[in-house]
This record gives sequence, C-alpha cells and structure tokens, in this order.
Amino acid sequence: MLNEDGISRVLVVTAHPDDVDFGAAGSIAQFTERGVAVTYCVATDGDAGGFDRELDNGGMAELRRSEQITAAKAVGVSDVRFLGYRDGTVEPGLGLRRDIARVIRQVRPDLVVTHSPERNYVNISPSHPDHRAVGGAALDAVYPDARNPYAFPELLADEELAAWVVKEVWLIGGPTPDHFVDVTATFDRKLAALHSHASQVSHMDAFDDFLRTRFAQMAQRAGFGEGHYAEAFQRVVTA
Ligand SMILES: [Zn+2]
Repeated sequence: MLNEDGISRVLVVTAHPDDVDFGAAGSIAQFTERGVAVTYCVATDGDAGGFDRELDNGGMAELRRSEQITAAKAVGVSDVRFLGYRDGTVEPGLGLRRDIARVIRQVRPDLVVTHSPERNYVNISPSHPDHRAVGGAALDAVYPDARNPYAFPELLADEELAAWVVKEVWLIGGPTPDHFVDVTATFDRKLAALHSHASQVSHMDAFDDFLRTRFAQMAQRAGFGEGHYAEAFQRVVTA
C-alpha cells in the first residue's frame, strides 16, 4: 500500500460533474494542501441531470462543466478534463478504456480514484450505471491498458504516450469500503465544492445537515469519534 509520501500525483476519474465532490472532495483538499497535483477526468457533461429544464441538454452540459471547474477550485484543483460522453448512456467498452488510458499516460498518477464497478445493494445511490461503467473501464485502463505498450498502440505511435503503471486505486461507493479518511479539517471545503453544483443541489432543503449526518456516520464507522467526518474508499493495490 502507498503511504502518503508515495503519492505525488492523483487522477480522479468520475462519470458526472459533482461525483468527485460527493465522494472524495475532502480527501482531495488534503492532497492539494500537501502539494499533491490532482487532475479530474469527468466522462460526461452531466447533461441529463438537474432540475432547471428551461435549459436544453446542451445548455445543461455547459453549465455543469463550469460548475465542476468552480468546485475543483474550491479544493485546490485546476486541471479538469471532460471526455464528452452522453450522460446516462456510458458503457465500459474499448473506446472509454482507451480514453481513460490516454489520460493516465498523460498525467502519470501514483493513485487513481474512481467509482466502484460493483453494485452496492445496501445503498443504491452510488451504483448508477454510468458510475459502474466508468469505474470498470478505469480499472481496466489501470490494468492492463495503461501499462501495456501493446494495448492501444496508437497512443504510443501517434501521441508518444509511454506505458505507465498506477500503483494504487481507491474506489468510491462500493459495498466493502476498507479505507477511511478523516476529512474533518477540510469538510468546509468539501461543502463549498458541493455548493458549486447549484443546478443539482440548490433545491435540496437542509443539504448541509444531510451531508454532515452522512459523513459523520462514516466517521463513526471508522472509529474516528464524535464531531468527525470521514470519506470511505476500497483500496486496490495495482502496482
Ligand atoms: Zn454521478
């Protein structure tokens, strides 16, 4: 397993604008405060989300991209890349694997954070089909695609992107979390990031209370005690 000193670059691969902020923004803020370089790669523009249906899907996509860029800034991230897939239609095929492998070879991260491809039967909300598709494709891109120079040879031949071995993956939202990060110190920055997604969350009453309750429960489960907040991951060693 990687210790903190072994992580200098992190790549977060998610399906929709706002996923990283619900699942991991407190942990991301801790990374950037330590000087770790973090890149977000978002598969869709979230054009099927939101409640302001005065906007067509194109307008919603533009709004959600800008909300994600603002949310990233709130936790110290300025490198945000969108793959342009259609919200609600993502499949874990070769095209998506190649697109994620390309970004892995460009960024060369020690750690990738992504969705769990496993369905969570206890709490269904993290198991959106786009999440499972992106998580599965990201794991396939980590192993074997990004590290195998013979996988997607055009990445090397046409783009000079050399093979890269990601050492570890943290999965969000899966049924069996085993790694809990105490995010009490950065929880306000996580809230600021989440409030950046106004098209998704501004209609929710008592949104902060909901978040505090949910992430305090995670801290209880981790044994961090009263008054703490935690984010949960499943760690997968991929070196
Ligand atoms: Zn999502």
